[in-house]
Amino acid sequence: MSASEITPYSPPKDIVIIGAGIIGCTSAYYLSRHPLLSSPTTPIKITILEAGDIAGGASGKAGGLVAKWAYPKELVDASFAEHVKLAKEHGGAERWGWRMVACGEWRGRVGGSGKKGKTPKGAGEHGVLPEDLDWVESEATEAYEPMAEDGETAQVHPYLFTASMLALAQEKGVKLVEGRATSIQYTPSEDTKDRYVSGVKYVDTNGVDGFLPVDTIILSAGPWTPTLLPQAPISGHRAHSITIRPSHPVSAYALFTSFTYPIGTRTRTATPEIYARPNNEVYACAPGDDEPLPKGTKDVLVDEKVCDQLVKDVGVMSKRLRDGEVTARQACYLPNVNSGPRGCPIVGRVEGVGGLVVAAGHTCWGICNAPGTAKAISELVMDGEITCANLSRLAPRNFF
Ligand SMILES: Cc1cc2nc3c(=O)[nH]c(=O)nc-3n(C[C@H](O)[C@H](O)[C@H](O)COP(=O)(O)OP(=O)(O)OC[C@H]3O[C@@H](n4cnc5c(N)ncnc54)[C@H](O)[C@@H]3O)c2cc1C
Repeated sequence: MSASEITPYSPPKDIVIIGAGIIGCTSAYYLSRHPLLSSPTTPIKITILEAGDIAGGASGKAGGLVAKWAYPKELVDASFAEHVKLAKEHGGAERWGWRMVACGEWRGRVGGSGKKGKTPKGAGEHGVLPEDLDWVESEATEAYEPMAEDGETAQVHPYLFTASMLALAQEKGVKLVEGRATSIQYTPSEDTKDRYVSGVKYVDTNGVDGFLPVDTIILSAGPWTPTLLPQAPISGHRAHSITIRPSHPVSAYALFTSFTYPIGTRTRTATPEIYARPNNEVYACAPGDDEPLPKGTKDVLVDEKVCDQLVKDVGVMSKRLRDGEVTARQACYLPNVNSGPRGCPIVGRVEGVGGLVVAAGHTCWGICNAPGTAKAISELVMDGEITCANLSRLAPRNFF
């Protein structure tokens, strides 16, 4: 019998979640709501270990789009309805900026003669633009195409969502330990080649060594996952973003843009993604680069030149952004998966290692797919199997 096929299933007693990004914090939330936790006969300890700040990586610096048309489908289907439920139960609109948003592709040419594109449904006085999309330069617009039907795209503020998930989990007894996990400890099986997790060594924020005994580990360290599980084929891809307080409020649109504008004798093509948020904030991000992954979220380098260019680009296509105030200039690392089923994160038990569960590599849809991932993880850990979705494609054995 392999360690990953232990029968009968016995509930965990000591769970440690490594990484307080959106995947770790949302997993803590779902575990803390599991019925087993309120059973007086089965005390279960849940600890979340974080090396830097809560949501200090991509989870606090992402755009926050939540889409029915995202991927992979099995995880999206499990996640969208959970986002709706969480927002309803905990006042997500006020607490983490949950709302439905229109989403479209905008193409333009600034400083040239705009060609009229296909007129979308709802197009109004701004030519090819929908009537309420009044904050982009209408005369520069070449085309606007909606990317989804109404009701298929929503958004959250990713930092506020992640921090709320953790706070709600802490209300139910989840403990936060501030420290960097340095290694996972294993105990060999007496009769097979398998091993079982037995502890996590860590260094706290004062540099003091610590140890947490465990029977279950949820490894949700985003792009840093291979530092603790080298065989996980995950890498980090740096991306810059800014936030702007526009000069006048902007309507609820998430825009995937592509536009050109002249710089001297040259023409620049820019492709920022620009998301209006509630509370008069606009988020924009630039394409990624190959800067190597640093030790932790606090060591991420922000290239001011990239942020300056992003400020300039978005200002070219929108006067309200040009006249607005830049409120954040930041960078973070997208967790990419380098092998296995395309576009899929790694979610499930590691074969041959009892008690080790991976939930990492969510690429560009980790905000969208966190609730489905977390619900599935809580079922796997507490009940022994995932029933909310068929996530067999995402099982670690398909990746390493
Ligand atoms: C520019 C950009 C825009 C994006 N926009 C969207 C979007 O609109 N919608 C969407 O769905 N997704 C989006 N994403 C993707 C999304 O941000 C990620 O998929 C998601 O945040 C990954 O979450 P995570 O918890 O796995 O990783 P992370 O957020 O990286 O969290 C991992 C955590 O683990 C901690 N950690 C690492 N090593 C250790 C250790 N040894 N011990 C303890 N703690 C450790 C880190 O400090 C970190 O806090 C975007 C990503 C980027 C880069």
